[in-house]
Amino acid sequence: MLPEFQSVRAKTKAEALSAVSTLEHVKIIAGGTDLMVRMRRGELCTHIVDISGLSEIRGIETNGPMIVVGAGATHRDVSMSRIINENVPSLSRACGQVGSPQIRNMGTIGGNLVNASPAADSLAPLLIHDASLILESEGGTREERLEDFIVRPYETSIRDDEMLSFIHIKPLKGYREGYKRVTKRATWSISRLSVAWAIKEEGGCYMDVKIAVGSCTPMPFRAKEVEQFLVGRNIEEGVIREAGKMIVDEIRRITGERPSFVYKLPVLKGILHEVLRG
Ligand SMILES: Cc1cc2nc3c(=O)[nH]c(=O)nc-3n(C[C@H](O)[C@H](O)[C@H](O)COP(=O)(O)OP(=O)(O)OC[C@H]3O[C@@H](n4cnc5c(N)ncnc54)[C@H](O)[C@@H]3O)c2cc1C
Repeated sequence: MLPEFQSVRAKTKAEALSAVSTLEHVKIIAGGTDLMVRMRRGELCTHIVDISGLSEIRGIETNGPMIVVGAGATHRDVSMSRIINENVPSLSRACGQVGSPQIRNMGTIGGNLVNASPAADSLAPLLIHDASLILESEGGTREERLEDFIVRPYETSIRDDEMLSFIHIKPLKGYREGYKRVTKRATWSISRLSVAWAIKEEGGCYMDVKIAVGSCTPMPFRAKEVEQFLVGRNIEEGVIREAGKMIVDEIRRITGERPSFVYKLPVLKGILHEVLRG
């Protein structure tokens, strides 16, 4: 059963910010696909500010070299956006695979980031794009890199009086990029392992490589050691095999040994091999 709470439906961003700065024990709700589950499990709050009607933070547009995604855009909005399809294909693919059609229609990208699950599908693509987040409160606006925003699993640096409004993404021109996830079943299931990549190649050589892995470590992470190792090396079997070994070692260093690694790590090596071979 849900605990008792009072709900405020914000019609504007200003109303939402005023509500979160004045009400006590307050939570923002967007699609509710995470928050409702947590509240049923006993998470308490006495006030809820519903931002699902805020068109101000739902758009997806370009602003100079930057793509600006409203935190209130649903996974469906993101996966169907031409701008995202053309400029951030890994994110388009990731959001298009979240949960089920119902979850994609309700769940927002902002909620996915603030919930900060290790299995959140939008994280790995946004990490390879060095995305940053715009956080607003009545006191002002701040920008924080996604990499710094997530402090630990299910915990971010967001304050109770703040709202995540926008996500800033830099397109990676000249890279081939993608996203792959492994689930227990084909759909309707969270990722057991996910990989986002963006690779720039020239003359049989890796010019730049960005790889992020989700659902393996407490937080999705950029495999920076492997990225650095690959830059400037030839695209050949020995190099690719060494990269696979390095990424597995890095995960074990972060997390230690886990029962799921028996299947996850060989699968990850396989995905990486496929991705790096091109
Ligand atoms: C059956 C099912 C399957 C799922 N499958 C997947 C899956 O495959 N992949 C995946 O990644 N996720 C999956 N999810 C998780 C979920 O749908 C996502 O995390 C969703 O994106 C959360 O967005 P929301 O709008 O529903 O957030 P809410 O539940 O409304 O909020 C989540 C948290 O974020 C905060 N919040 C939301 N928006 C803002 C904002 N703009 N500013 C500040 N705080 C905010 C809330 O206060 C709350 O703490 C699944 C969930 C269910 C129930």
